[in-house]
Amino acid sequence: MTDALPVTTLTCAQALTAARTLGLERLDAQLLLLHALGKPGADRAWLLTHDTTPLPGEAAQYFHTLSLRRAAGEPLAYLVGSKEFFGLDLQVDGRVLVPRPDTETLVEWALQQLAEAGIPASARVLDLGTGSGAIALALKKTRPALDVTAVDASSDALAVAAANAQQHQLPVHFLQSNWFKNVNGLFHLIVSNPPYVADADPHLPALRHEPVEALTAGKDGLDDLRRIIEQAPAHLQPQGWLLLEHGYDQARAVCELLQQRGFADVQSRADLAGIPRCSGGRRPAPVLPTNSQTAG
Ligand code: GLN
Repeated sequence: MTDALPVTTLTCAQALTAARTLGLERLDAQLLLLHALGKPGADRAWLLTHDTTPLPGEAAQYFHTLSLRRAAGEPLAYLVGSKEFFGLDLQVDGRVLVPRPDTETLVEWALQQLAEAGIPASARVLDLGTGSGAIALALKKTRPALDVTAVDASSDALAVAAANAQQHQLPVHFLQSNWFKNVNGLFHLIVSNPPYVADADPHLPALRHEPVEALTAGKDGLDDLRRIIEQAPAHLQPQGWLLLEHGYDQARAVCELLQQRGFADVQSRADLAGIPRCSGGRRPAPVLPTNSQTAG
């Protein structure tokens, strides 16, 4: 390592200034310094009153290393090992995508649909591509009677999600599956934040520390969304909803795919920035056999 610090004692304020010089945001520098000191992120008030406190040499060295990694683009969540999502503190690392606040839009929409008349408290919910478990665990925490199944193709991601479920004591069924491949039974609600970034998207270099298989989905970024929309009706209860997160410019394409597949009540929801970020619809009515008056 060439990043060893000279043996001088830094105060907290000096260490924060050094990190700003490397290009770190003030908040990121504060959160990393607290982490290096073994303190929770909620202790920012402590920093404000300890400008002149000398940093122990080990903490100073660790903070310096973390600052260099942050300056090189590593997500803050990976460096501190956790990210808050829907009020849950989730452990995350390079095996899973960092949960985004935008995805809380999907959770809120899901909770609204689950509150509809006729949906049992113990409704079956499926989260496809669960990653850290964020969506599945947020739903289970808010509606503990739900029967939640969380699927991921990556055993690494499932290990992270299962550890989060364990830590928060939220019993969720985990299943390794490439989308619906190993999924059985019908669900009242299916939610997914699948990969939706185009293979050649210019934003990808900024996301290089996150698992690419959780991010990209073909030339137009719609490959996985297409597959899910195609296969979902066979796994939904009559009137069941499919709710999907997608890219900032994909709402129209996703709504069209849903309509083409026969979904009803197709609509979108905006994220915190006002961008249509999720789209969904109700399961298409079953095709009635020609001689039957009773089906459906
Ligand atoms: N929202 C993420 C981003 O664009 C992408 C997440 C995803 O592909 N599901 O940074």
